[in-house]
Amino acid sequence: MTNSTPTPVNFEFDAPGRDLESLKRSIANKLMFVVGKDPAAARPEDWLHAAAYAVRDQLVERWMTTTRAQYAQDAKRVYYLSMEFLIGRTFSNAMLAVGLRERVKQALADFGVDIDAVTELEPDAALGNGGLGRLAACFLDSMATLNIPGFGYGIRYDYGMFKQTIVDGRQVEVPDYWLTHGNPWEFPRPEVNYRVQFGGHVVKEGDAYKWVDSHDVQAMAYDTIIPGYATKATNTLRLWSAKATQEIDLGAFNRGNYFAAVETKNHSENVSRVLYPDDSTPSGRELRLHQEFFFCSASVQDLLHRYLRTHTGFDELPNKVSIHLNDTHPVLAIPELMRLLLDEHHLPWADAWRLCQGVFSYTNHTLMHEALETWPVEMMGRILPRHLQIIYDINAQFLAQISQRGGSAELLRKVSLVDEGGERRVRMAYLAVVTSHSVNGVSALHSELMKESIFLDFANLWPDRFNNKTNGITPRRWLAQANPALSAVLDKQVGTGWRRDLTQLSSLNGVLTQPKVIEAFQGAKLANKERLAAWVRANMGLTIPTDALYDVQVKRIHEYKRQLLNVLHVVTRYLRIIHHPGSVTVPRVVVFAGKAASAYHMAKQIIHLINNVASVVNNDPRVGSLLKVVFIPNYSVSLAERIIPAADLSEQISTAGTEASGTGNMKFALNGALTIGTLDGANVEILENVGADNIFIFGMTTPQVAATRAAGYQPRAIAEGNAELTAVLEAIRDGLFSPDEPGRFQAIYDLLVNWGDHYLLLADYAAYIAAQEQVDAAYQDRDAWAVKALRNVAAMGPFSSDRTIGEYADKIWRSKPLELES
Ligand SMILES: *Cc1c(COP(=O)(O)O)cnc(C)c1O
Repeated sequence: MTNSTPTPVNFEFDAPGRDLESLKRSIANKLMFVVGKDPAAARPEDWLHAAAYAVRDQLVERWMTTTRAQYAQDAKRVYYLSMEFLIGRTFSNAMLAVGLRERVKQALADFGVDIDAVTELEPDAALGNGGLGRLAACFLDSMATLNIPGFGYGIRYDYGMFKQTIVDGRQVEVPDYWLTHGNPWEFPRPEVNYRVQFGGHVVKEGDAYKWVDSHDVQAMAYDTIIPGYATKATNTLRLWSAKATQEIDLGAFNRGNYFAAVETKNHSENVSRVLYPDDSTPSGRELRLHQEFFFCSASVQDLLHRYLRTHTGFDELPNKVSIHLNDTHPVLAIPELMRLLLDEHHLPWADAWRLCQGVFSYTNHTLMHEALETWPVEMMGRILPRHLQIIYDINAQFLAQISQRGGSAELLRKVSLVDEGGERRVRMAYLAVVTSHSVNGVSALHSELMKESIFLDFANLWPDRFNNKTNGITPRRWLAQANPALSAVLDKQVGTGWRRDLTQLSSLNGVLTQPKVIEAFQGAKLANKERLAAWVRANMGLTIPTDALYDVQVKRIHEYKRQLLNVLHVVTRYLRIIHHPGSVTVPRVVVFAGKAASAYHMAKQIIHLINNVASVVNNDPRVGSLLKVVFIPNYSVSLAERIIPAADLSEQISTAGTEASGTGNMKFALNGALTIGTLDGANVEILENVGADNIFIFGMTTPQVAATRAAGYQPRAIAEGNAELTAVLEAIRDGLFSPDEPGRFQAIYDLLVNWGDHYLLLADYAAYIAAQEQVDAAYQDRDAWAVKALRNVAAMGPFSSDRTIGEYADKIWRSKPLELES
């Protein structure tokens, strides 16, 4: 079975060669005929694009082979719907996937071009905020590598995550127009476009409903190839861009009003203009609802269209299609699929509902109540009138079912898809749970807490629906690409197979006490510190020592992640150094990086404090090189690839019960850093795998957090009972780090001492400081430290996203790997 017309018999093309001469010829041709540049005038960006096109050619044939095999085998396809894909750069990753990095490097060198310099010019595709978007990117990589026929569906934002600059210690946001120089990795598909409706109203004609008088926007597809590693399989990331249905309003144009004519166009196209710079608090803004529906509608129309090319009727849909909802942002795909089946394809309700339950599955990413998405009924009714009706109908049937099973009025009120307390709102997470055949959390702890808290009533109704799939990370990007120095050590000790089977790293355990292995590991770590220190010197004008312990916390800035607790330790250490010389002997470089949501005032204050502490500490001659504090601006995937390999210590110190999983924690351990962390998220499983001797666990457990709050937590009493903590808090409050404006950090002091310290920093302070002292003690014996770090590396097999995706494929999607001849 093929998808349309057969290939013409006389169609021939040149399969791109992989030898050096062919690559050089290809790069030269791309520069001339695609980029259109005379080599004498070519800028480094032009060489990057020429090389990118040459590497992309290597993927295209595989892509077509994969697509043909999907149709021929009538394989079940997995559609991963996500508002965010935090991909980072593609050039290095693509060269790695096709195994041509060294040869492309040589080809460019022969033209006098330095591959590292041009690699640095590629902008990150930063179409995500943090962990949730990066997870989606790791999942695409693993689906392709495991031959799972998978499609990513999302939004092609014109402006990705904002660029963070630091001006006088403060975060200042700059727009990231990542498409300025074009994107050589995407294929625009103007012929693949769908009409997405908004507004209007619903009319009933006989038994059928029609959605009329809507304002429509076109969704146009842009495809990016997602290569698998060491397989011919490739997948597709299809991102939707909004185009006006009419280029310009011809009436207005003819009347000579050019601006009015383009206004409607601009308005429609705003839908895919910007990424919301926050993934942990719903904004409640109408544009966000438009964005969510825009990509859900286009994606569902597109996948139904693909299904119907090779099937008649919908009976096979759940056997051929899985739709996975990455958090609640894509949940509108549910009423949209219902609408299409009911109103366009005229299926009876019961059939449409059964099909939806067969195809949808959902991942929950947060338990924080304030982060659960709900939409005002009024707004949804105005923008998506038919969908609100459908949600009401789903709710009515669901509540009737519960009531038949003897559910009380109280239970019905609690589980209703519509929150009737105050302004009526649709609860998107509940809609996902009621529809999906699988609801998973992202770490063992989180999945348990999910059943005990936000979804308690649903877990009682349908215990089998809930499961855990602990997150993972792709070893291709997060070890092979990010850390060539350590990769070379591992290749020598355990072979190269870990790139596809990370559990092979466990054989390190047999050799990691050998002096030569220890020395090789230490050499790689030092090289990575030198690489980072050189970058910091070149980009920030700051010199940091390379023989110090690198203590790193890089992630979004959020109160629950407790960067402020880290700052309390830094200030404690600083005061010890200046008041008790000789009491601190292990030199440290404390590295921070992370963006604050633009509207999140306290997170921005924390960034300001970190920068102010850094300038005081770094310029105090009494400190010397015993302590340096660095806030690296504009945290991104590319920066993570540079920072994480240099770390000795990974800070994973969220309040127990708040971090769903974390994936930063996994990246660090895989790169040979020891974790200092709470029993939160996947830290719990990291502890189980590396053993208590190879990790620094401190602080309250989730039940202790709950008990402390229930007992009436008194942070002021804790502060008053600890003289060192008091001194630290007062130093911050009284302006030691802000002499030009002594009251600047009063609010941070108040947050902790007077306003309840919601995330219990002061309660965990003493335990954290004690754990940091254990870190110092352990670091004194550098060889013993290296052995612990290597035990972490050896234990990271289970944290590969290949393991995670294998579990999703088996247990949730029931999809089989595609068969491809190699
Ligand atoms: C991995 C990653 C994250 C997630 O980090 P956590 O520590 O799990 O919060 C965020 N941003 C980027 C750029 C990442 O690579």
